[in-house]
Amino acid sequence: MSEGYETSIAGKPLSPESLMMGYAYRPEWSEGALKSPIFQTSTFAFRTAAEGKRYFALAYGLAEPEEGEECGLIYSRLNNPDLEILEDRLTLWDIAERGLVFSSGMAAITTTLFANLRPGTALLHTAPLYGGTDHLVNETLPSWDVTSIEWSPGMTEDEVLERITAAGRPLAMVLMETPANPTNDLFCIATARRIADRLAGEDAPIPVAVDNTFLGPIWQHPLRHGADLVIYSATKYIGGHSDLIAGAVLGSDEMLCPIAQARTVMGTIATPLTGWLMMRSLETLDLRMRRQAENAQRIAAFLDDHPAVSRVSYLGLLDAGDAGHETYKRQCEGPGAMISFWIEGGEAEAFAFLDALTLVHLAVSLGSTESLAEHPATMTHAGCDPVEKARLGINDCLIRLSVGVENVEDLILDLSNALSKGLSQ
Ligand SMILES: *Cc1c(COP(=O)(O)O)cnc(C)c1O
Repeated sequence: MSEGYETSIAGKPLSPESLMMGYAYRPEWSEGALKSPIFQTSTFAFRTAAEGKRYFALAYGLAEPEEGEECGLIYSRLNNPDLEILEDRLTLWDIAERGLVFSSGMAAITTTLFANLRPGTALLHTAPLYGGTDHLVNETLPSWDVTSIEWSPGMTEDEVLERITAAGRPLAMVLMETPANPTNDLFCIATARRIADRLAGEDAPIPVAVDNTFLGPIWQHPLRHGADLVIYSATKYIGGHSDLIAGAVLGSDEMLCPIAQARTVMGTIATPLTGWLMMRSLETLDLRMRRQAENAQRIAAFLDDHPAVSRVSYLGLLDAGDAGHETYKRQCEGPGAMISFWIEGGEAEAFAFLDALTLVHLAVSLGSTESLAEHPATMTHAGCDPVEKARLGINDCLIRLSVGVENVEDLILDLSNALSKGLSQ
């Protein structure tokens, strides 16, 4: 689809932020419309029966595409112009061969796992994980006879390998979330790559997938550090306006082929309208995320100095010697805009603070233009095992703050005012 679209000037390649407004779309396809219309259609007319036969053969992997041949449009559970243009644009940030979009981040994760796991195998996963992923991994997968092996913060490569050996099952996949939701713990992607390569069979590679929702696509590029797959909850920074639910997976053609087939069968693709909204969002992704990170650095410093706050976990505050500092320097290109902090007191103080916020909204989700705060222990991570939660630092004092694009002085005023309410409890 991107064929014929200029991606360089005088031999110099253009940056993703310059290509987001038009890449992979040509106005002559749609009466000269500068922007891609919403292709609100369930199905696509074939010119001939032979053409329909060829498209299905390609979509189902029954035939190999000729050089440069792409599968044509069939039915919006398989493909749609808005989604194909969007997928091409998404590949630019992570420099991926191919992208797939989904109806949610959970749809992206579930489809990827079901395409790669089989009964009797094991999944290695970092912890903590987003609440929905945690449930999938620890509740749903065991009922399909897939064992989950936890890689917790601070474990060495040898300790992780010992755990895999102790599980006594072939490892089928590694799923990482780094930085982890909600604590910002970091995990080394190169370590996961080494573990996967060590345990892989001749013709049975072990895919390493990274949920890059917290930093990507601007601040971390997992494919460059050895990952095979990058997963996004596109609901967050990519969508960025708290008005859509979507997901994405990026990687090589080879890795994405079985996931694309699973998406067709499971029906987990996004709608054309969602695809169109995401294209709108991608135009300002770089702008938004840079402003959000700038604001977050100021806010993290403010919280770190505040007497009502006992600890702040923000990548921009990591110093030499802190857990994760080395990984941060090697793997991340910026601190992002997710701040987790522990308030003095307990649930009562945390709730008094959240209830007193005015500009910052009390809501789950993250990555949006407006700042959002929530209480992971009783909200996003309510369903996680209580002992496990306490061990990982997800306690009653923890607040997760997603910093938006508002005026930073106004945000600090709101936080300062709400913290004084928490203090006077
Ligand atoms: C929100 C989130 C998800 C789930 O995404 P949905 O779009 O809500 O389905 C997965 N992983 C992380 C890290 C998230 O923050």
